[in-house]
Amino acid sequence: MAWNGIIGQERVKSLLKQLWERGRLPHAMLFHGPEGAGKDAVAIELARVLNCEGGAWEACGVCQSCLRIEQLRHPRLRLVFALPSKPEESTAIDKFSEAELAEMNRQIDAKAENPYCRFAMPKASGIKISSIRDVRHESAFRSAAAGRSVVLISEADRMNNAASNALLKTLEEPTGDTMLILTTAKREAMLPTILSRCQQVRFDPLAESDIAEGIVRLFDVPPEKAVSAAQLANGSVTEALSIAGGEAAIPRETIRLFLRAVCQGKPAMLMEHIRKIADVDDKKAVALFLVSVASWFRDVLAVQEGAEDRIRNTDLGKPIMDFAGHFPDVRCSEAVDAIETAIDMIIKNVHLVTILIVLSHRLRRCIMPRT
Ligand SMILES: [Zn+2]
Repeated sequence: MAWNGIIGQERVKSLLKQLWERGRLPHAMLFHGPEGAGKDAVAIELARVLNCEGGAWEACGVCQSCLRIEQLRHPRLRLVFALPSKPEESTAIDKFSEAELAEMNRQIDAKAENPYCRFAMPKASGIKISSIRDVRHESAFRSAAAGRSVVLISEADRMNNAASNALLKTLEEPTGDTMLILTTAKREAMLPTILSRCQQVRFDPLAESDIAEGIVRLFDVPPEKAVSAAQLANGSVTEALSIAGGEAAIPRETIRLFLRAVCQGKPAMLMEHIRKIADVDDKKAVALFLVSVASWFRDVLAVQEGAEDRIRNTDLGKPIMDFAGHFPDVRCSEAVDAIETAIDMIIKNVHLVTILIVLSHRLRRCIMPRT
């Protein structure tokens, strides 16, 4: 990664850069904002900059320090995240089973591979007081090596009271050169005393266009998938990647087949298609399918307006052109509204088959307003 590996968040990047240039980076910061906005990713990149042998705002990416931080295996970067609870709260890390330690390593590798993925230890109960105590010991220890130690406490709202109080001590008596970065999507769940001792940095939800561009560029998501996934992702890169990874549940070919069944007016055949879609039994996959159908109508609108270069579903270019030619009166905006209503219903847990039947009728009226 590098700064251009962080999607959007230009305001945050420039704020941190200013603080860095003036040597004013605080010893404790709270990155707060929605899930998947890049809070951990920014924290990791900042740790890399602070320890790069090149000493510039853009980490060189090739020195030993950069490489080790990229793998999240660097003595100057400590990761704290929620772990399974142990009978005794004070147990040290070596009391974890082999399997748990292997899983912790797997979590760290996954985060190194993709800093937008969440730490998700199975059976994690919260951030343990022992993890926070380790931080305290570490921050008291000044390393002779150049650079600045960073402790990233991911999803800091998952600290229980004991862990929060232990952290409070560290915040009250900062030692050494350690920088604490807490990240959270639930700032309201944190102790006010902790909030008041951290410089707060707000992360905004990412724009759909930034997410779509970013996941194509950084994660090789195919563009047509990226656009639909970004639309459903609520500003979260993590969510968009998960949706893009799951789209195969309903093949894109289904868009055309479904619309054909809608137009043909044969109820039995239409029901067969609807059942096939609903049988996937995955709300997200069906919602994503509908986002693609909406995107189809936006492309048809582009053709109607003579702007074929605006077609986003380039893999469906020919069928979209054919459809636009065949149904010159199609009311695209109305169709998109109907689909968005259907997506809302899916989110509200309305029965999938019912949603699709109602949507089919509405779409038929939009496609063939004169029948
Ligand atoms: Zn470097």
